[in-house]
Formats: sequence, C-alpha cells, structure tokens
Amino acid sequence: MKTDELREKYLSFFQTKGHHRQASDVLVPTWDPSVLFTPAGMNQFKDHFLGKVKLDFTRATSCQKCLRTGDIDNVGRTAYHHTFFEMLGNFSFGDYFKNEAVAWAWEFLTDKKWLGIDPARLTVTVYKDDDEAFKIWNEKIGLPTARISRLEEDENFWPASAPSQGPDGVCGPCSEIYYTLDSGKTVEIWNLVFTQFNRVGNPPDNLRPLPSKNIDTGMGMERTASVLQNVPTNFHIDILMPIVQAASEVCGVPYQYESDHGRRLRRITDHVRACTFAIHENVYPGAKKARYVIKRLLRRAVLDGHQMGLREPFMHQLVPVVAEMMKAVYPELLQTTERVAQVMKREESDFFATIDSGLDRIGKVFHEMQSSGRVMVDGREAANLYQTHGVPPEMFQQIAAEKNYTFDWDGYRAAMGEHGEKSGGGGMELFETGPIETLKEALQHCEFLGYEKTQSDSQVKGIIVGKPKEDHLVGSIKSDAVVGMTRIVLDRSPFYGESGGQLGDSGQLRSPKGTFEVTDTQRSGELIIHYGKLLSGELKEGDMVTASVDEPHRDAIRRAHSATHILHHALQKTVGSHAQQQGSKVDADWLRFDFSNQEPLTEELLKRVESISNACVQEASPIDWKLVPLAVAREAGAMMLFGEKYPDPVRMVSMGSFSKELCGGTHASRTDEIGTIEILSEESVASGVRRITALTGKRAVEQRKKIEQLAGQTAALLGCTIASLGDKTMELVTAVRKLKKLTGGTGNDAIPDLVVKGKSPATSADYSVARAAFKQAARAVNVSLEEVPGRIEALLVEQSQLHLQLQQIATSGGMSIEDLLGQAELVGGTQLIVAETPHANAGMMRQWIDQLRKRSADPIAILLANCVDDKVTLIAGISQTLVERGLSAGKWITPVAEAVGGGGGGKPDLAQAGGKLPAKLPEALQVAKDTWHAMLA
Ligand code: ATP
Ligand code: MG
Repeated sequence: MKTDELREKYLSFFQTKGHHRQASDVLVPTWDPSVLFTPAGMNQFKDHFLGKVKLDFTRATSCQKCLRTGDIDNVGRTAYHHTFFEMLGNFSFGDYFKNEAVAWAWEFLTDKKWLGIDPARLTVTVYKDDDEAFKIWNEKIGLPTARISRLEEDENFWPASAPSQGPDGVCGPCSEIYYTLDSGKTVEIWNLVFTQFNRVGNPPDNLRPLPSKNIDTGMGMERTASVLQNVPTNFHIDILMPIVQAASEVCGVPYQYESDHGRRLRRITDHVRACTFAIHENVYPGAKKARYVIKRLLRRAVLDGHQMGLREPFMHQLVPVVAEMMKAVYPELLQTTERVAQVMKREESDFFATIDSGLDRIGKVFHEMQSSGRVMVDGREAANLYQTHGVPPEMFQQIAAEKNYTFDWDGYRAAMGEHGEKSGGGGMELFETGPIETLKEALQHCEFLGYEKTQSDSQVKGIIVGKPKEDHLVGSIKSDAVVGMTRIVLDRSPFYGESGGQLGDSGQLRSPKGTFEVTDTQRSGELIIHYGKLLSGELKEGDMVTASVDEPHRDAIRRAHSATHILHHALQKTVGSHAQQQGSKVDADWLRFDFSNQEPLTEELLKRVESISNACVQEASPIDWKLVPLAVAREAGAMMLFGEKYPDPVRMVSMGSFSKELCGGTHASRTDEIGTIEILSEESVASGVRRITALTGKRAVEQRKKIEQLAGQTAALLGCTIASLGDKTMELVTAVRKLKKLTGGTGNDAIPDLVVKGKSPATSADYSVARAAFKQAARAVNVSLEEVPGRIEALLVEQSQLHLQLQQIATSGGMSIEDLLGQAELVGGTQLIVAETPHANAGMMRQWIDQLRKRSADPIAILLANCVDDKVTLIAGISQTLVERGLSAGKWITPVAEAVGGGGGGKPDLAQAGGKLPAKLPEALQVAKDTWHAMLA
C-alpha cells in the first residue's frame, strides 16, 4: 500500500467513526511557547483536552507534520526514527474512551477493508495497573494473554513516569501496538494514550480520576507504511526511497544499506526533508531556537556530504524531489521550491566555506587532547569554533563522541554567555498552569468587540496580581494597596490583545468606584488580558466597567497596520512573489515589515516600493473585512503565509482590488486615512530576510518636515543646492581626508582645493530628491540624520584648520626638497644631509626623508631636526643599500639625541628621537656629521 493511500485511509476511517478531519498544524507553532516544533498530533489540541476552548467537535482525526529534536542522534542509525515525520492520530475530548479507541485501532489495522494486517503479527503492551485495557484487549478483541505485556510507568505512561515523578496534572496509561517483522523483531507503530487521571502530589493515592476522559493516539505513518510495504526501514518506503536515491546521485555515492555512506545518505534524506518543510514555513537557518535547530540539521547533513567527498553545495538540489514526494498532501511545497533551495544553498555555501578549516581545528584539538591525556573537549574551544567556523557545538560533540571524548557543555555555555537553556525545548512545561490557565478553563473565551467599537460595558471576570510564578487571582484591589502590574480579564472587551505583530491597545476601565489605566493588552489563547494599574478607588470581581480604548493611539496603530498590507502588495509587485511577509510589528504610526529576499533592495527599487505604496494610499480605496471559510479565502486568492496557522472561518481583509490578506488586526477604513507612508530604512535581519521600517500618518509628516528642515540647514552651511547636497558632502569628506594625510606626512596628493560655501542658495527641491541627497550626505559622514548639520559644521572648521597647518609647513623657512638636496655632501660614496627644518612636523619630516631617498641616485643618509616649544625632534633615515651594508639609522641617531639631552631609536632604515635642550642643537648636528663619518670608516 502506498503511503499516500495509508494516510488517506486513516483519516477516512476515523471520519466514518464521526471524527472531524483537522488539518495539520504548522511545524513551528509559535503560539505554543512550550515547544520549538510540533512533537505530536495532540499538540494542537492541548487546550481542547483541558476544556480551555469552546469545542466545535469532540472527536478529531489528523495527520500531523512533526519534528522531534530528541531523535536526531537516532536518525540514520535506527530503521525507524526521523527528525521530521508524520503522525496519524485520533482524539476524543471527553467523548469516547478505551473501549472504542482499542476496538477501532484493531479494526483499522486488521480489517481487510482497511489495512488488512495479519492479526497474528500484532502484539500490544499496557500499563501494569491498567486492568481495564488488559481486559479489553484480551476479552473483547480476543488477543491471547501471551501477546499482551504489562509494562512499567517509564514505558507505558504518559507523560513517562508521571505517577512517581510528576509533573502534576493530567496524565494516563497508554497501550502500544507492535508489529512483528519476518525477522521476529518487533516495531512500535501506534500508541494509544488514555488520559484519565489528574496527578496531585506524590504517591501513594495521587492519581485522581478526571471527570472528563480523553483519548490521544499517535501512529507513525512512515513506520506503518514500511510494515505494509514490507521493506527493511522507513527510508525504503515509496515516499522516501526516491529521496535517498536522489541523494546518492547528487553525492555520487552508491546507496548501500549497511555502510557508513548508507547511514549518511539516510541522514541527508531525513534532514533535507525537515529543512525543506521548515524553510517552506519561513523558519530559516539562524542563531536561535527553531531556526538554530534547522541550521544544525542542515550543517550536519553538509558534514555528511563533506565526509563523502563533496566540496560544493548539494543538498538544495534535493528540494524539488522532497516536494514531489510530499505533494499529494502538501502541494504548497511546489510553490516555494525555488526560494527554499536558494536559502538552503546559501547556508550550505556558508558552511562549506569554513568547514575545512573547522575540521582542521577539530583535528588539532583532538591531537592535543590525545597527547595531554584529556578526554573532555574544552567548552571554550567549542564556543570559539562555533563563532569562527560556524561548527555547531552539537556537531562537535557528535564528532568527539565518535572518538569517545566527552564534551564540556557548562564551559561552552559559560563562554557563550548562555544560562543553561537548551535549544531543544527540554525542561519546558508541557502544560502551563497558573491563574490565567484557571481563567481559561472557567471562561474559555473573551469576546473581542474592537473591530466595530472602541468602548463597551464589560464585567470584571478576573483580577491577577503578583510577579510571574507568584501571581494569583484576587477578589478585589484598592489603589493604595497595589504595587506593580495588575492584569484584568473581562467577559468582553474592545481592547486588541497583541497578536499578529500588532501591539496591544491602551486605555481605561472605569466604574463608579474606580479607574484602572490599561497600558498594554495581551492575548492568551482566547482570553484578552488588560495590563495596567489602578489609578484610583477600587475594582472588584463582578464589577461592571466601561472599557474605553485610547482612540488616537488605536487610530495610529490602524494606519500602520493597513500600511503593512500595502507595503506587502508593493513588494510583491516590484521585488517578486517570493518577497513574502516574514514577520511584522505594528505600533502607533510606526511599523516594521520583514520579508524574504536575498539581496538588499536598490535605492531605485525601494523608491518604487514607496511610490507604489503611496499611490495606493492616495487612491482612497475602501478597506473591508469579512469572515469567510478558509477555502473561499484561498479561492479568492488571499495572500496566505506558509507556516501561519489560520482559523476556519478566517477574517479576510481587502483593500480596493489590490490586496487581500488573512488578518485579525484592526485597520483603517479607507487607504487615504493612512496619510503618507514614509520608509525610514531597509536592512538585513537574518540570512535571506530583509526589514523595512516605515512611518505613517502624523509621524510620517513630521519626519518629512524634519528631513526638509535638516537638508535645508545643511545645504545652507555648504552653500549648495539641496539636490547637490550629497555630492558636496562627499567632496568635503574627501578633501578633509586628503588634508589629514598630508599634514600627517603620509600620502603624496597635491593639496586639495578647499570645499567652500558656494554661491548657490539652498533652493527647495522635490522631497524625494532632497531626501535622497540628504541621506547620501548622512552616509558620507556616517552619522544619524539629526547629527548631519553639526558634523558638516565641524568638518568645515577642521578643513580650514588643516589647510592652515599645511600652508605653514609648506612655507616653513622656505625649505623644500631641492634646498635639502643642495646641502648634500659626498662622504665615502654616500650622500649625507644633516639639516634643521624649522616648523615641519614629524610627519612632514618623514615624508621628506622618504622622498629624498627616492630622488637620490647614490645611497643617502639624512638626519633632520627641528625645535618646537623647547622640544627637539630628530629623524634619521638611510637608504636600503646602506642598511644592507650593516649601517643603522637607529645607531646613528643615538649619540645625536644624547647631545640634546634625550634619547630614542628605531629601525635600521628609519629612526626618531627627541631631546630637551634646543640650545645644543648646532652641537648635535655636528655630532651627527662626525658619527656618520665614523660609521663609514
Ligand atoms: P520510540 O520509542 O520508538 O521512539 P515513542 O514512544 O517516542 O517511539 P510516541 O511518542 O508514542 O513514540 O509517538 C507515537 C508514534 O509515532 C510511535 O508509535 C511511532 O510510530 C511514531 N514515532 C515516534 N517517534 C518517531 C520518530 N522519531 N520517527 C518516526 N516515527 C516516530
Ligand atoms: Mg521516541
């Protein structure tokens, strides 16, 4: 049986048993802080199990995309573990229980109409105390006792070992179904979890029956397919073998099951599937959390390729094969293969660029460890290797483990400044507890009224005070007794809780007895949580309040949110359809919009994005929304983001005829309410992700005024037109740079012309011209916009000072190279110049020496001296040929320096010294001549 057929059969079977067919949740459920990736089918139903949401159905079935980081080390080694895999499941929320769950599992597996597996091949396990399950298998199904094992809590309880070790909360025994292979070995294909207890404290007597019992099952789709297809491993099933084969071709290595290369090819197959799905969902390889896991998987696969001799990116070539294999259920993968492959290729190249030197370093580390007898890899070394060569520590650890070396994780974390957090998501609580969760169970839902109004009469349903982890519900609060942040939950509210990137509302909750100021609003599941402070009076549970949103603030947020949709549209139109939203943040007349694109946008392109956006604004198109079934929205061509979880029905926001997006945010009612969209910047946030920051409404207008004013002010300083502001600033910066070089004695440029205040008045210019010119100026002087005029003023001052200094040097005592050459005397075949150069600074003197050496045909020795403010500076230099003869400027200068009461030295070809006795200078110059004569003798 084909895998696609198995998947479909499972879902239809449970539909015939009255189950709602639920689509897979996303792979990276950002709504659930307790996991990085969806680990099982039940994850999306957590709140259903606990009665924290309204139930539209009490039976569900799904095929869930899962990723388990805990199984990474097993991949390629065992026949049955992947990181990415699909889990088939059926769920009961207080509906049917053990009897049906067991009977249906058996029917689906053995009935000829469904899988038709030979019952003799199946064995099961139950929890040791679960007589009920044992009886059902034995008496109702007729399975002989010999084929039912009773296992301990570490094997057959969920969560594992919960009865003795916790955590407190819902839990229950499970029953696993195993298939016996031809070899006699068994493989677990399906796990049925019977959630029937609430654990309270430690044993004994700590498992209380739940009033409403649940069923949660998980069948490994690849495992079951491998059994049905009678192949040796999951990797040999119809949807995976072609990827293994493609990997073998791309890597130029034949696939052999029992070989190191075979294991590598399987690992590449698994990892490329995981990475394809994640990147498709816009989870790009990166430094943190889920993104880091993807980076690790990708690099691990690249290492496998490297070990098979590859030196160029290869994995990305497998993306289309993955999409092809998975397209029956995930046709959307076909739409993004190009983008996914591009992101993958870039990450591969990055790693290939450093992998050789990284492995080299690892080799050296191992070598040192061996010779010093150490067995633990130094954590600091690992941190260093990650930062310089991008070798993930987990990979280093794996390579080390192959040599039986251990790994100093504490040292690594200390070196990275981390605090023991693991990226794997371990240690996080599976189910959250606390006052908010209690309120969720009690209320399930808080109606949001804010699409239509900004004020409502609402009832206080919960008041929470206290710091996180110590927070608790209270019946009432009085203004003078409350310290810190208080949270209020109402039955219904016009306040928007932060979500979808849009920040929460602020405002007030007022009753005749008290006023509560809301400074922020958040969402937790279906609840709206008002954060703030009681300003006066008191507030009690059950009080009726008038909840009023701060309208100007909300309006500013609405403008900014609508602007993100417009920008998205403009980006799609100019940059391309791959320029999809990656994230956003919407505040009052301020927004940040992240989108996929490898390269920075050119200035030209960015200008087009902005002008298209503003054309949409000026069009004054109506902004409407309606609730539609998800399928209808898809049909209508609404923009859907991969990796986003959409409810059904979904809220579709449309603007004129150009934009349809699925969005829960609050919006302007016509595009022209936005006023203006002013883009502030475009920058990189992560590999392949760019970010635009922009303003709307009043803030955009203010920004424009500010730029116009600053540009005018700067142009006036430079006396140029606004349009030429950028060029003129560049000129000034270049001139100052050259002047600095010249006065410092380096550089051979001619003295540049002064950039002076021109005659052109600071005429007004078209805004976009003014902004471009002004931004160019800001980039040239490398300061923030506000600082530009000040910086230009300072540069103008610096320029005239440097210029003055240079003129002084040039005219110092009428001295020039020619004058100095004229003073040269021939001593033993060498030219000797010993001279005083008043006014020249050390840089200038060095420059002269340099030029004299270049100009002289004979070997030459020069010693220049000057006095400034009672300080003598001496610099001596000799030609390279003299150095080669063993002579040294350093040795030459020493007695000269002593003669003026000082010291110094330097290299054989150039030496510098100082002294404190200017009066002795004539004597010292004589010492210089005598010493040189002596040195040549
Ligand atoms: P195992 O002990 O084999 O790792 P598990 O006890 O972790 O399995 P469950 O958490 O009960 O598995 O998940 C339900 C089903 O999902 C399993 O019966 C198995 O068929 C499948 N499954 C679990 N982990 C993986 C994996 N890493 N790759 C493929 N299938 C898996
Ligand atoms: Mg497991």
